[in-house]
Parts: sequence; structure tokens; C-alpha cells
Amino acid sequence: ELILAIETSCDETSAAVIKNGEEILSNIVSSQIESHKRFGGVVPEIASRHHVEQITLIIEEAMKEAEVTFQDLSAVAVTEGPGLVGALLIGVNAAKAIAFAHDLPLIGVHHIAGHIYANQLVHKLQFPLLTLVVSGGHTELVYMEKNGSFEIIGETRDDAVGEAYDKVARTLGLPYPGGPHIDKLAHEGKPTYDLPRAWLEQDSFDFSFSGLKSSVINNLHNKKQRGEEVIPEDLAASFQESVIEVLVTKTKKAQEQYRVAQVLLAGGVAANKGLRSELQRVFEPSEVELLIPPLNLCTDNAAMIGAAASIKFKQKKFAAYDLNGNPGLDLENQ
Ligand code: ATP
Ligand code: MG
Ligand code: FE
Repeated sequence: ELILAIETSCDETSAAVIKNGEEILSNIVSSQIESHKRFGGVVPEIASRHHVEQITLIIEEAMKEAEVTFQDLSAVAVTEGPGLVGALLIGVNAAKAIAFAHDLPLIGVHHIAGHIYANQLVHKLQFPLLTLVVSGGHTELVYMEKNGSFEIIGETRDDAVGEAYDKVARTLGLPYPGGPHIDKLAHEGKPTYDLPRAWLEQDSFDFSFSGLKSSVINNLHNKKQRGEEVIPEDLAASFQESVIEVLVTKTKKAQEQYRVAQVLLAGGVAANKGLRSELQRVFEPSEVELLIPPLNLCTDNAAMIGAAASIKFKQKKFAAYDLNGNPGLDLENQ
């Protein structure tokens, strides 16, 4: 089984060819970060325009690198949502055109299902499993009893982790996207600032990061106003420590309560070095298997969409040729 997968939900234009849901024959990613940097975030109109300009080339490159023709394909998959509607539409229309022209089944994929299934490109999944999803727009603990079944047992009530990282970075004057810069600074500093941890109700697997984010920003402004020195490395280290402590503690508790065989990490923030090593420290001595994707499969890419699509292919869950981009697509009921 060979699937051509397309991802255009945000600011990466990507196409990949995936064999049997686990082998990457090609995975071409064109990032637009440079174009959005001077605006301090993703500008939807600019993102759509870049996708239009790039999509045909990226698909051709993915097919060429995989050394396959459209006739060899089993299906075409595309990120259906969530994401920026104008960005999603470019990928969806490209996928529809190819599927229609070559009489191939079309598969709509949930972007977060893609982030989770990135792990399948690295290792065989074993159910039931638990995934900590940490990305630019999502922070969730997802329980999966079997392939294709997603239960969100906890989620953020305000900011996503990646969003908090990017806002804190911006306040510190770091370029967009700020996550990797904070991660780097954090390793050069000590967690000397006393920042809050939002545990919420005792039995809750939900998260909240807006209080922590505001606390960092207030700390910075107050100190500046009083003419006191702020050590960015230490502030970054304190912020990162608070984030990781809450994420890892809740993940561990959920793993114990749900008795899962595997714990997966997924999403752009899964690239965070501190988070990766703390999860390893906590889970590696236990019998639970911890899966963490390599860095290039953590941030947005089409290979992960192809991996998730393979499950739908086996279940024959195909989309009609009138598939639309759906910015509000629900992970649990797709
Ligand atoms: P979503 O997947 O929720 O739709 P998205 O696709 O925009 O959102 P991703 O591309 O999955 O998000 O992840 C991007 C986010 O990951 C950004 O917020 C970025 O700052 C963050 N990020 C990337 N690397 C790191 C890192 N090393 N440490 C912390 N955050 C990071
Ligand atoms: Mg991105
Ligand atoms: Fe993403």
C-alpha cells in the first residue's frame, strides 16, 4: 500500500509518500517561517499564498524522491482540519484533483491524529496507549483503546503549550517561533524564579498555561520597571521547569490510571529537549514503553498524515470527492 499524503494546515507545505503506514519513501517539507517572522506569528493570507505557490512543486518532488508514479498509488490523503481554513483548502483541493484525475480513493486526516501517528513511523504501536499531544494549538492527553479511536481525557482550558512558549519568547524579544529559543536558553540558566504550576482539580487531567504565561510577563515588566536585572536564561529555565513538571506529572498519573502499554509524545513541542529527557527519566525505569518521534517528525510534516491515513485506508474510511477543509474538525468524532 502506497499513500501520497499532503499537509497544508498552517505554515508548512508538505507532501510525502508512505508505504504500509510505516515506511517513509519521501517527506518534503517547505517551511514558511522566514516569511512570517517579521510579523511575529503566522499571517493566514501569506500562508495561503505560499501554499498555492509551493504545493505542485512539493508534490512533484515527493513523488520523484519516492520513485513512484500516480498509477502506483493506493490512495491520496490530506489534512482535513483543524488549521487555517485558507491554508487547509489548498491541500484539500490539490488532493482532490489528484484523486479524481487518477481515480484514487481520497482520505481526510485529522491533523492531531497525524501528530500522534508520527510515532508509527518509528515504532510499532501497542494498544491501549496514551499520547501527550503538545503543539502550537493543542495540549491534550489522548487515550486510544485501538487504532482510530481517540478519547481526550484532558486538555488545556486556555493556552496551548506551544502558544505559551511563543508568547513568553516574544516578551523576551526572541524571534518567532520562540519555542526552540526558550528551550535553548533554559538549558543555559537555572530555575531561580518562583513561578506557578496550575494543577487544577485533583482528579483532572486538564491543563492551564495562561496563568504561568502572565506570571512570566509580569515578572519581566515589574523587574524592568524597578530597574532590577532580569536574567533571561533563568526566567526561561523557570518557565520550562514549570511547564514540564505539570505535563509529565499528569501524564504519569494518567498512565497509571488507564494502565496503558505505551506512552507517546506528539506535536511540535515534542521537540523540546527538556520535555523529552524528563519523560525518559520518568518512564524508562518502568515497564511502560515510551515513544518519542525524531525532531523532523515532531513539527508539521506530511509523513505523519500518511501514517494516520493508512489506518483509515485499512478501515475503508474514504472521503467523498466533495471533501472540504474543516478548521473545527473534532478528533473524537471524525
Ligand atoms: P497544531 O498542531 O496544534 O495545529 P501547529 O501545527 O501550529 O499547531 P506544530 O507545528 O505542531 O504546531 O508545533 C509548533 C509549535 O512547537 C510552536 O509553538 C513552536 O514554538 C513549538 N516548538 C517547536 N520546537 C520547540 C521546542 N524545542 N521547545 C518548545 N516548543 C517548541
Ligand atoms: Mg508550523
Ligand atoms: Fe501541528
